[in-house]
Amino acid sequence: MIHIVDKMEEWQEIQGSPYLQYVQDLKAQGKIKHIGLSSHNAEVALAIAKSGLVEVIMFSLNPAFDRVQSDKNPWDSKTFDEMLPGIDPVRVELYDYCAQHDIAITVMKTFGGGDRLLDAEKSPLKIALTRDQCFAYVLAKPCVKVALCSIDSASKVDEYLHYLKATDEEKDYNSALSKQTAQNDMDKGACTYCNHCMPCSAGIPIAKVNELLDKAEKEGLTSELKAKYDSLPHHAGECTHCGACLSRCPFGVDIPTQMDKAKEVFGK
Ligand code: SF4
Ligand code: SF4
Repeated sequence: MIHIVDKMEEWQEIQGSPYLQYVQDLKAQGKIKHIGLSSHNAEVALAIAKSGLVEVIMFSLNPAFDRVQSDKNPWDSKTFDEMLPGIDPVRVELYDYCAQHDIAITVMKTFGGGDRLLDAEKSPLKIALTRDQCFAYVLAKPCVKVALCSIDSASKVDEYLHYLKATDEEKDYNSALSKQTAQNDMDKGACTYCNHCMPCSAGIPIAKVNELLDKAEKEGLTSELKAKYDSLPHHAGECTHCGACLSRCPFGVDIPTQMDKAKEVFGK
């Protein structure tokens, strides 16, 4: 594991360096099995993933950091004054890319750095999550294979292992996060691409449609976005306004209206 590559310049320096060549030679000789890198920066982690040089990325991932814009520092408390309404699009791309290309993410900062997310007063989310909810949040992502946590006392072991016998209710981070959403009007109705609303009776991949719509509204409709939308198995125009998804969305998203908007933007 090559640790803490947080700046693009650092990553550029490592690529093609004698050091990386040395690591690759060790792998070719069977002395090491896999090459990994750790980063706290989503843009750098995405570039690392796309290089094809690593099989593992250790990355800081939790419900609070997911809502920080990639170029902002999640350690700066002021960063959370401008919390995004949904998951940062670069992070979404990173998680999708890793899942599609069999790159494992090992999560660090599962509880937000220390136990910050477990304390409503310290958490930028202003609600207290449980360990089970934090574990469930990160492990729900197909690219995540390991969630790290620090053990500084024997009692922590039991606390962590509780996850293995936790009920679905105890792991339900969505209902906890929806309380946070309700406390913050800015967030009301913003999709976090969590997929909790599925299945759609018309087969529409609602989270993906919302994600592409958000990107198109933010960056303009590019041919790349249009191609991604066209490749979906079902499109927003197929929404029958049945409303089945509405009660399952913990974030109060007006999904049928979103589908109408997506149809208008993408043409089907
Ligand atoms: S309202 Fe539209 S998006 Fe929601 S379940 Fe029905 S068809 Fe699917
Ligand atoms: S519409 Fe709601 S439930 Fe569906 S992915 Fe978005 S936030 Fe999650």
